Amino acid sequence: MPELPEVEVSRMGIAPHIEGHKITRVNVYDARLRWPVPEQVHQVEGGDLIRVKRRAKYLLLETEQGVLILHLGMSGKLRVVPIDTPRVKHDHIQIEFSSGQCLRLNDPRRFGALLFTEDNVDEHKLLAMLGPEPLTEYFNADYLFERSRDKKQPIKTFIMDNHQVVGVGNIYANEALFKAGIHPKRAAGAISKARYERLVMYIKETLAEAIKQGGTTLRDFTRADGSPGYFAQKLQVYGRGGKMCMRCKKPLREIRLGQRSTVYCTQCQR
Ligand SMILES: [Zn+2]
Repeated sequence: MPELPEVEVSRMGIAPHIEGHKITRVNVYDARLRWPVPEQVHQVEGGDLIRVKRRAKYLLLETEQGVLILHLGMSGKLRVVPIDTPRVKHDHIQIEFSSGQCLRLNDPRRFGALLFTEDNVDEHKLLAMLGPEPLTEYFNADYLFERSRDKKQPIKTFIMDNHQVVGVGNIYANEALFKAGIHPKRAAGAISKARYERLVMYIKETLAEAIKQGGTTLRDFTRADGSPGYFAQKLQVYGRGGKMCMRCKKPLREIRLGQRSTVYCTQCQR
């Protein structure tokens, strides 16, 4: 599933090719995505695409008429190709521009989405309840400390809750907790501010590193053979259950927490 870094890299990959160009047509070849693609998406035809923004894992295509809200779901991929490039299987949406290029959404599992709003997009029902962006100043130790008081839930599920902060997917939660030396099951409300300082720092570092690595694949977004997949990352705990801790050499333990694979070191994480 594309996580926040992949979505941000998708944004960086497509934006320079489509921003500032007029949208000539929106072709919906299969409207049966996670929610049926509404007729209103055609309202953007004839206007300029002003900017491509991102909020959590939603790409926001700001146009003169309103905002297209695009989500990649489980398997969605974007690329920018000349309009006459033959479509391939699972190319469900094509947004065409006066430049002769088009943005294509390919999504085999069809859990992606394309919606439209004329109103303030931050108040859209999909976005209104979301916590702050992890790579902004609004996400800091003071914030997380205040939000966590009286919370008995495990710290790992707490930081993965989109209402608290967006974009901390399972891989990033595992890695950041290991780096911060915090046990994933520790109650969120029982963690000191000093430890939250470290945790926030490592969440930001882990996400920023993933975006940086993905940035090396940007030109792939304009190739006909498809946009890049997941970035190979140097993971210290995720996917390494039973293997040796890189810090203390003890075997890492793997459990299920909130139905998600959780790997940690019983010695290094308290
Ligand atoms: Zn260890």
